Amino acid sequence: MDQQINKSAHAPEGDPEGSSRWEIGVMVNNLDSDRLRAFHTAAGLGFHYVHTGALPEAWLTGPERDAYVASWRASRVVIGTMFIGFDGQNYANRATIAQTVGLTNPETREHRCRAALAYIDLALRVGAPSLSAHIGFLPERRTGPDYGNFLHAIVAIVDGCTRHGLTFHFETGQETADELLEFMSDVNRPGIGVNFDPANFILYGTGDPLKALDRLAPWVRGFHCKDGHWPVQPGELGKEVPIGQGKVDFPALLQRLKAIGYDGPLVIEREGGARAGADIEAARSYVRGLRI
Ligand code: MG
Repeated sequence: MDQQINKSAHAPEGDPEGSSRWEIGVMVNNLDSDRLRAFHTAAGLGFHYVHTGALPEAWLTGPERDAYVASWRASRVVIGTMFIGFDGQNYANRATIAQTVGLTNPETREHRCRAALAYIDLALRVGAPSLSAHIGFLPERRTGPDYGNFLHAIVAIVDGCTRHGLTFHFETGQETADELLEFMSDVNRPGIGVNFDPANFILYGTGDPLKALDRLAPWVRGFHCKDGHWPVQPGELGKEVPIGQGKVDFPALLQRLKAIGYDGPLVIEREGGARAGADIEAARSYVRGLRI
């Protein structure tokens, strides 16, 4: 169920940038906000493996859908996972995230479940083997009045993926590793895993990424290279920064990834900043330069 690895994308022997045991991919919509151009932008920079970000919901069923599929096909890049997301999500701070992100809000849940199922259909068109998502802040486990409904919605999406041969990966970091493990034990389906994003543990203040990786190691199906600082104000997130400039200890993390035998790609994510494209290219050089 894991992604196929294209070893040919590694930096060549003797490359002054160094090399990496892992293929290095990119979160494609960070590279170019034009969704129809972004696949080609990635390919032009030598990225063969991408994760895709959320689409406007209208694109899932409207005429843009065919244009999106055609753009992907012409670019020849491999989509490792499609991140699903929904209209109206707002990551400004913890309060807006709690209200608007993922499947947490009962008012939008049913509609968003249908949108998530539409992503499955699109994933099949573009050959993506999995969906991934921030599902929102988890409701209080078991004692919360809405926990069962939330869990039921996630299980329905996971089961929809399974029926079509896809896996479903939880993006890490909005909760602690142990909270996510508890939730996954409640989901209790074989077709689940995590996309490990070390920066999110720092940005959301949910734990040391190295310790989180130890806890989640058996579940890692994808990995984001992203960096950031711890939050300084209650209710706010930390600041995301270019790789190598924040609190993520990439040398230690990648050594740990090597130790646990993760052999999937590393995907560079750069959500903010005015020079995301340049930051992403610098991040690739940084990771290769670690020579791990
Ligand atoms: Mg991420």
